[in-house]
Amino acid sequence: MNSLRLFIFLVIFSCQKLEVFIVEDEFQFYLETFVTEGLKRNVNILQASQQINILFGTLSNSIVGQCQKSNDNHTILIERVYWDKASYLEREQLLFHELGHCILNRHHFDESHSGYCVSIMRSNSWICDLVYNSTTREGYLDELFKN
Ligand SMILES: [Zn+2]
Repeated sequence: MNSLRLFIFLVIFSCQKLEVFIVEDEFQFYLETFVTEGLKRNVNILQASQQINILFGTLSNSIVGQCQKSNDNHTILIERVYWDKASYLEREQLLFHELGHCILNRHHFDESHSGYCVSIMRSNSWICDLVYNSTTREGYLDELFKN
């Protein structure tokens, strides 16, 4: 009986996948802020925020961030050269855009009003102007978490 129990335990244990997610230190605060801003808008993404990798990586062409999604593994890659030169709000805008893809399942959204982007989920910088500052931030985050 005891050996049967042990056998069952081992079978169950060996079927479980050991998942380790890595968020590099420099991104941790932004990820926590993202969760907090979601909670303020009744969007709870705490669990999803613990199941994502955010790493520095080398990206081709002028791409500065990328969300790579698979069934059980979401990874955001950030280009370090851009990150190191970017301001706090530029970094937040980039990371929140990628988290929009990877956690909120947002697609690109290129609508604009008078030339200004409606969403930080715009696909390219030449499509519309995106002024993400302390005045416009709240409105952009409302839009981000609303959809
Ligand atoms: Zn994107």
